Amino acid sequence: MLQDKCYPKIAIDGPAGAGKSTVAREVARRLQIKYLDTGAMYRAITLKVIRENIDLNNSVALQEILSITDVQINEDNKVFLDGEEVTVEIRSPQVNKMVSPVSCISSVRRKMVTIQKAIVLQSKGIIMEGRDIASRVMPDADFKLFLDASVEERARRRMKEQRDKGIMMSALEVTREIAARDRIDSTREDSPLIVVPEAIVIDTTAMAFEEVVDDIIRIVREGLSCSGNG
Ligand code: C5P
Repeated sequence: MLQDKCYPKIAIDGPAGAGKSTVAREVARRLQIKYLDTGAMYRAITLKVIRENIDLNNSVALQEILSITDVQINEDNKVFLDGEEVTVEIRSPQVNKMVSPVSCISSVRRKMVTIQKAIVLQSKGIIMEGRDIASRVMPDADFKLFLDASVEERARRRMKEQRDKGIMMSALEVTREIAARDRIDSTREDSPLIVVPEAIVIDTTAMAFEEVVDDIIRIVREGLSCSGNG
C-alpha cells in the first residue's frame, strides 16, 4: 500500500556502473524527493580502513575502528568521515579495489544499514540506491527497481567517468575491476546483490540516460497516480 501518494520510497539496486547514481539523482530532482547514495557510505568506511591500515581478518581492530568512526552523508550526498569531507577521495582506485571486500563484513553492514534506515524514517519520500536496498534497507519500498547493463557497457561508462576525473585506466583494467566487484557483491553471505522477485528490471545497455530517467518517472507516476511534481 502506498502511504503518501506523492512521496514515494524508491529502491534502486544493481551492479557497478549500471548508471544508478546519475539516474537516481535526476529522478530525485524531478520528483523533488531526497536521494541517497549508499555506496558512498561503504566507500567512506573503506577509506578509513585503508588509512588506518586495518587487516580485514583482524576482527578486534575492525570492531574498534567501527566503534569510533563517524560516517555522515548530507543532503547533497557530500560524504564526511569523522567530520572531514571525503566526497572526492572515496572515488579513488584504491577505494574501488577495497570497497567490496570491506562491504562483505557483517559488522560494517550493520552499522551502515542502521544509519540508512534512520535516514529513511526521517525522509518524506526518498530514492535510495545500492546493492541491498530492496532486500534489506527498504523492503517496504513502493518501487523496487534493478538497473543492469552488460559488463562491457558498464566498463565503458566507468572508463569515461574516470577519464573525466583525469584517471586513466585501460578497458581491461576497468572490466576486471567491475567483474571482481560484481562477483564479490553478488556472492557474499550477508545481503548479497540480488534481484528481488517483485523488482522491475531495466536493462540500460542500449538506453540513453534520459530514457532510463523517463522510464522510471513513468513507472512511479503510473504507480502513484500522482500529478504535480516532476
Ligand atoms: O555504488 P558503488 O559502486 O559506489 O558502491 C561501492 C561498493 O559498496 C559496492 O561495490 C558494494 O561492495 C558496496 N555496497 C554495498 N551495499 C550497498 C551499496 C554499496 O555493499 N547498499
